[in-house]
Amino acid sequence: MSAAIPFAAVPTSDPDDKEPITTRRRKLTFSERMELLIDAMSARLGPILISLAVLLLSLAIFCYFAVFIPYHYPRQETGEASDRFGYIANMVWSGYLVWGIMANYYYAVTTPPGTVLDGISAENDESSFQDVLLEMETYTEFPPTCKRCHLPKPERTHHCSVCKKCILKYDHHCPWIHNCVGHFNHRYFVMFLTYLPMACAYFMYMGIGPFLLLAELGDNDNWPYPLPKALVAFSMVLAGAMGLAVGGMGCWHWYLTLTAQTTLEQYNNNYIKNVCKKKGEKFTNMYSFGIIGNLLDFFNIGRRGPWYTALLPIRIPPIGNGKRFEKSGRGYVLDFGQEDDDMV
Ligand SMILES: [Zn+2]
Ligand SMILES: [Zn+2]
Repeated sequence: MSAAIPFAAVPTSDPDDKEPITTRRRKLTFSERMELLIDAMSARLGPILISLAVLLLSLAIFCYFAVFIPYHYPRQETGEASDRFGYIANMVWSGYLVWGIMANYYYAVTTPPGTVLDGISAENDESSFQDVLLEMETYTEFPPTCKRCHLPKPERTHHCSVCKKCILKYDHHCPWIHNCVGHFNHRYFVMFLTYLPMACAYFMYMGIGPFLLLAELGDNDNWPYPLPKALVAFSMVLAGAMGLAVGGMGCWHWYLTLTAQTTLEQYNNNYIKNVCKKKGEKFTNMYSFGIIGNLLDFFNIGRRGPWYTALLPIRIPPIGNGKRFEKSGRGYVLDFGQEDDDMV
């Protein structure tokens, strides 16, 4: 029988495995200096990137409703749109996409991703530590401690060097939302990455006609819409670029969601998979309950709401407190036919 490989023995890309930078006296290496610089830039750029994202989204939304809709549904002399049913259906669909984008972006930015101090109301650092430790010890006998913030770390928690705290079910720090993607805002981040590429594709489909029109018109020809031609052209290019970039990222995050992995875990799991492969062993992600189970968990369907809540851009908290997760009952590595011995 081949031996199971405990997860703790596997090298990890978790940044908090390094020595705490703040207490070091030795000279920092070049890569550590670069890491600190990138962290500092991410922290400072956040508000600028959020403003830029809102500005660009607003421009595209204005372009859609002020140029594309009037182009496809010109108003007659009576004030009625030419195709009333098509007009209403289009307004409902595009309104839904705008709601999906803006609401999920707002939720992703404003929802705290979750920290180990959630639910702890201690008055000072020492009692915070004690309270967190007591809570963690109800989940696991020897909880690990973060080397940077010195607090006990629940499973799937990692330290964010930009936010300077441990984040529950840490995925990554996103400067575009000036926030970490973690347990409590993961859904909103993934849904934003879903609605935005869909809207970009529809925007480009609706924009083909106006785009060809503005390409045909000369400088002195009448352009009957309230947005300058250059901004309409810019919006089309922007939608194409954003649709491809965000769409690619959305596909990646959907893969992670369906396989119940965070970005960080995926790197570690890939490493373990390769080790298993060489040893002829089978790898199992203990947080995965199969594609359907993972989807139900991710959207909190069944416990919190019916299936159609997955399609509604509303605030729905995830399952659990982010400090302990249900497991499918199997360890990271499972010998063929030797399940009991190899539970982790
Ligand atoms: Zn930490
Ligand atoms: Zn962060």
